[in-house]
Amino acid sequence: MQFAQFGKGAFFIVADIKLTHLKWGPFPLNRENIDSLLFLESPGTYALGAMTKKGVLEIEYVGRADKNINKSLKEFIGHYTHFAVTKHASVHDAHEHECQLYHDFGPPDNRSHPLPPDGVDTSCPHCAAEASP
Ligand SMILES: [Zn+2]
Repeated sequence: MQFAQFGKGAFFIVADIKLTHLKWGPFPLNRENIDSLLFLESPGTYALGAMTKKGVLEIEYVGRADKNINKSLKEFIGHYTHFAVTKHASVHDAHEHECQLYHDFGPPDNRSHPLPPDGVDTSCPHCAAEASP
């Protein structure tokens, strides 16, 4: 399947920065792009914002989808112009990555720290590191 190969290749290229960056994007936030990129249901993390004149995504909001990243992103169409996204194998991974994005970028539209997913025993690695002596 072509999509899986693309994902695997991209993974190797960005393996060392996997935790802080998003694999795909930025792309214009519209139904066509979301559907062609994310046609299988999975957890995921995303960043939303607008493109600067230099062609960089200015991140205004980061988020996580526990079940269906496709559906979650579509709720933001019209609110932001561009998105970048990463799919995750588990909700646990998605939450850790979301926390990392939150701490790295401090997006202005995120009013509070990301909450852990329902029923998953996990905490933010970044906050845990700060709390320990
Ligand atoms: Zn944290």
